[in-house]
Amino acid sequence: AAKSAGKNQVAVFTEWLRSERQDYAQTVAGLRRALKDDEFELHYQPLVDLATGGVRGVEALLRWSPPGQGPVPPSAFIPVAEQSGLIGVIGDWVLRRACTEARAWYERYGTTVSVNVAGPQLRDPGFPDTVRRVLRDTGLPPQALTLEITETDLVATTMAEADEVIARLVGIREWGVRVAIDDFGTGYSSLSYLRQLPVDILKIDRAFIPQDRGDAGFRPDDLTLTRAIVDLGASLRLTTVAEGVETAAQADMLRELNCPVVQGYHFYRPMPARDLAGVLAGSVAVAA
Ligand code: C2E
Ligand code: MG
Ligand code: MG
Ligand code: MG
Repeated sequence: AAKSAGKNQVAVFTEWLRSERQDYAQTVAGLRRALKDDEFELHYQPLVDLATGGVRGVEALLRWSPPGQGPVPPSAFIPVAEQSGLIGVIGDWVLRRACTEARAWYERYGTTVSVNVAGPQLRDPGFPDTVRRVLRDTGLPPQALTLEITETDLVATTMAEADEVIARLVGIREWGVRVAIDDFGTGYSSLSYLRQLPVDILKIDRAFIPQDRGDAGFRPDDLTLTRAIVDLGASLRLTTVAEGVETAAQADMLRELNCPVVQGYHFYRPMPARDLAGVLAGSVAVAA
C-alpha cells in the first residue's frame, strides 16, 4: 500500500508539473498576444501628502484583462513576464505609456509619476538609454519621474551585477530622476547596504503597517516596528511612503509617527487615467 501510495504521489506531482508548465506556456502566449493586440492598460494610484491631504504623485500599475476573461493580477503575470524575458518589452511599454500620460499632470499640477521596474530591466545595460529616450520622446522632465525597484531586486542580484545596477541608477539619478526602494522590509538589505544605495524614497511594505483592531488599538510591538522604519527613513534623509493604508486610524497613526506620504485604499484605489484627471483637478497641489 505504501508503495502504491508513493507511486500515486509521483503521478500527482507529475500531473501538477505538467499543468504548471501548461499554465506558464499559456500565460506567455497570452502576454505576447496582449502586446500585439494592445490589451494592457495602466491604472494610477495617488500618493498622498499626510500633512496637507494633497496628491503628491501617482504610481502606475499595470492592468491586463484578456478578452472574455476577468482581469489577471500582476502577481500572476509579472513573474511569468520576468521568467520568459517578455518583461523587457512590457516594461518599455509601461514606462512610455506612464511618461506620456503623466506629462500633462505634471505640467498642470506638478504631479510626479512612479513606474515599477523589474530586476531583469535593471540588469539590462541598455536600461539607462531606454529611460533617456522615453523622457526625450515624451517630453516628461526627469524630475517628474520616479523609478520603483523592490528591495528584493536590489539585493538579489549577484555582487558583480549589483555594482553595475547601482552604477546605472547613479547615472539615471544624475539627470534628476528619483529612485524608490519598494516593498521595503520584505527583502534582506542590511542597514549599511541601504545607506550606500542610490535611493531617494523608501516605501514601507504594507506588511509593516499595523492591522487596525478597532477599539483594541494597534499592537504596541507592531507600532514600535513601524516607528523604527519611519525613523530609519528620516535619518537616511529619504522620503518615506507607507503602502497599503486602508483605514483612518492607520492614517492618523502614521501622521503621529511623522510619516510624510501614504498610499492606500483609504485614500484612493488605483484608477484609470481618465478618472485621475478629475481627482488631480480637485486636490490640493503639492510640489514634490
Ligand atoms: P507594488 O509596486 O508594491 O504596488 C502596490 C500594490 O498594492 C498594488 O497592487 C496596489 O493595487 C496595491 N494596493 C494599494 N493600496 C492598497 C491597500 O490599501 N490595500 C491593499 N491590500 N493593497 C493595496 P497590484 O496593482 O496588484 O500590483 C502588485 C505588484 O505587481 C506591485 O506591487 C508591483 O510589484 C507589481 N507591478 C504592478 N505593475 C507593474 C509594472 O508595470 N511593472 C512591474 N515590473 N511590476 C509591476
Ligand atoms: Mg511599486
Ligand atoms: Mg510596494
Ligand atoms: Mg508590493
